[in-house]
Amino acid sequence: MSHVFPRHTKATLPTVANGRGVYLYDQNGKQYFDGSGGAAVSCLGHGDADVTNAIKAQLDQVAFAHTSFFTSDPAEQLADKLIKHAPEGIDRVYLVSGGSEAMEAALKLARQYFVEIGQPQRRHVIARRQSYHGNTLGALATGGNEWRRAPFAPLLVETTHIAPCFEYRGKLEDEATFDYGQRVANELEAEILRLGEDSVIAFVTEPVVGATAGAVPPVEGYFKRVREICDQYGVLLILDEVMCGMGRTGTLFASEQDDVRPDIVAVAKGLGAGYQPIGAMMCTAQIYAAIEGGSGFFQHGHTYVGHPTACAAAFAVLTKLTDGGLVDACATLGAELQDGLMQAFGQHPNVGDIRGRGLFRGIEIVEDRDSKRPFAPDRAIHKALKRETFEAGLICYPMGGTIDGKQGDHILLAPPFIMDRHHIDEIITKLQTAMARVL
Ligand code: PLP
Repeated sequence: MSHVFPRHTKATLPTVANGRGVYLYDQNGKQYFDGSGGAAVSCLGHGDADVTNAIKAQLDQVAFAHTSFFTSDPAEQLADKLIKHAPEGIDRVYLVSGGSEAMEAALKLARQYFVEIGQPQRRHVIARRQSYHGNTLGALATGGNEWRRAPFAPLLVETTHIAPCFEYRGKLEDEATFDYGQRVANELEAEILRLGEDSVIAFVTEPVVGATAGAVPPVEGYFKRVREICDQYGVLLILDEVMCGMGRTGTLFASEQDDVRPDIVAVAKGLGAGYQPIGAMMCTAQIYAAIEGGSGFFQHGHTYVGHPTACAAAFAVLTKLTDGGLVDACATLGAELQDGLMQAFGQHPNVGDIRGRGLFRGIEIVEDRDSKRPFAPDRAIHKALKRETFEAGLICYPMGGTIDGKQGDHILLAPPFIMDRHHIDEIITKLQTAMARVL
């Protein structure tokens, strides 16, 4: 009997035995193409010697030293490199152990910033209905996924949620795409005014929505308008790039493609690429200066902040991403993957939309293509797709709750950047097999 507490207590999972390149193998030697990098994590695939050697070298030096006593070379190097490539204005890095921790730190820093600058009345956070920002209570409160929030609702701090920018579902038939983006961005202004002009701390959003909706990019002009509104009302813009960042969309930060300047940005997943658990919360010089010139103390912390071994792994990963041409490869392969998916499934009666950027692609599954009617939730199409793709030797990330966390199914693909062109055919063939069985 296993003593591990699994997420699905009734599921019997195979045991992972090893991983090489784009493949994982179970205890029976069955091969799986890692088409989602787990949950958009393994951007370098498995068994990357540069990263494992960097970890081993750091372990031989010092595995861990607490950040109340020491800084470390790996933490300093990693922070320097992140800032070198970060969005304009981002100047400081707070290193944590994953995405939820990065988002918790972002929320707390945003609130503390206003306390430090003498605006303690600011207490509201606005996010979007179609969003996931982590499973710890602060991050969960910020997320808009009803299903994930429901059991914990009494424990969640009040957060208000506005419409996402989800063209496939939200744009009216006779509405221009640009106008749609402005309309949903303007919901932010309306919500700020409803809550009280000087009472909002931050607007939190994923630039390209990941798990809750399947690689949904914003429309042109949306983030420009969001930034204007944030500036007008002194609201901080927190971008959650935990899933879509670190090259996944074809640029190191997804928001680069929308020309938007965050005040705080969170990354994780691809930063450690699965080799170590690590995340980062980054902020502007202005926010840092408020803390430095105020209390001089960010009232937060975890034991493993700035963990040297995790930082050494992330520095090796980031070096490969930024200096090895892998982010460009991700953009090129991503465009080819989109073409391949369109050819294979573009006319499929149960495929409503194929979308995304770079190697971050979503396929929305519908019962009726013309009306965009989703399958009834009790059909649990995404669960059947997960089972059948896995059976076919493809790991992808099918999820339900595409529409406001309530109904709808999609498949998320986030394969390793090191894959070759022929792997696109492998993904498509295996998806075809699974979809034929389920639909
Ligand atoms: N934010 C986003 C956008 C995510 O997709 C996730 C995880 O899927 C998180 C935050 C939470 O990250 P973690 O699971 O590393 O805590």
